[in-house]
Amino acid sequence: MAARVIDGKAVAARVRERVAAEVAALPRAPGLATILVGEDPASQVYVRMKREDSAEVGIESFHHEPGGEVSQADLLALIESLNVDERVDGILLQLPLPGHLDQDPLIAAIDPGKDVDGLSPVNAGLLAQGREEAMVPCTPRGVIELLREAGTELDGARAVVVGRSILVGKPLAALLLAENATVTHCHSHTRDLAAVCREADVLVAAAGSPALIGAEMVRPGATVIDVGTNRGENGLVGDVDFGPVSEVAGAITPVPGGVGPMTRAMLLVNTLEAARRRREA
Ligand code: NAP
Repeated sequence: MAARVIDGKAVAARVRERVAAEVAALPRAPGLATILVGEDPASQVYVRMKREDSAEVGIESFHHEPGGEVSQADLLALIESLNVDERVDGILLQLPLPGHLDQDPLIAAIDPGKDVDGLSPVNAGLLAQGREEAMVPCTPRGVIELLREAGTELDGARAVVVGRSILVGKPLAALLLAENATVTHCHSHTRDLAAVCREADVLVAAAGSPALIGAEMVRPGATVIDVGTNRGENGLVGDVDFGPVSEVAGAITPVPGGVGPMTRAMLLVNTLEAARRRREA
């Protein structure tokens, strides 16, 4: 039987509508500062989309392009100026940065309360401790929202996460644990990945490896979330071999149109939440 396809675009549209309504009810629009360094074409597109999304829901955007040759010290100074800018509730430093820049201290310099990407060590630590005030990275947060929308039971479920990056895999495993799933974390050293994946009620692929997850790795009826975004000859493909896997799974996200739109939508949610918390503080 073919799996139900979880429509990330539709869920993201509902999230945007909700954010727009909540933003409209605030006395002052939340502000999102975006920083784009260098000429990476994909980064240029991502930042443009994030600014368009912000405009659509009424979030004010403050865009900065300090130039591809900007020094570490000048970029740090820009971040520090945004940290104290009252109009700015969220700061997004678009990654990757050009090679002459050291991204870790720059991310760590972002005020944790404005760290809408949730990548700073403070927010990662809060999430690891299961603390509610953690600012959670957008992609894993979007995955949890999709699982909720799909009606997937997480309490007591066996969840397998393939990938352990600080952007996706690690925060997602922490979120699934917080939802009382029994979480197994896989990576490139995992022995017999197929056998581990077959245990999953919820299988999340975030490896960046096209068609890594085949039908033989999926338990019948499982929910399969494909975070992978791989550019191939035939356009964008995920980490899951969609056709065959959708014959086995109970529910599945497509690529494109699954996790991607949710990542964008959750940035708006994080910015709204950052604004609320700062104003209540
Ligand atoms: P990453 O930093 O490259 O991490 C990939 C992870 O997958 C690593 O932990 C790696 O293991 C593991 N891995 C790679 N190949 C594997 C294999 N054959 N078997 C088991 N594990 C394997 O990537 P990322 O930033 O987390 O992104 C993962 C994918 O998600 C990429 O395709 C990226 O483009 C996509 N992505 C999509 C969105 C979205 O909005 N849709 C957002 C973010 C990322 P090791 O740690 O052992 O190396």
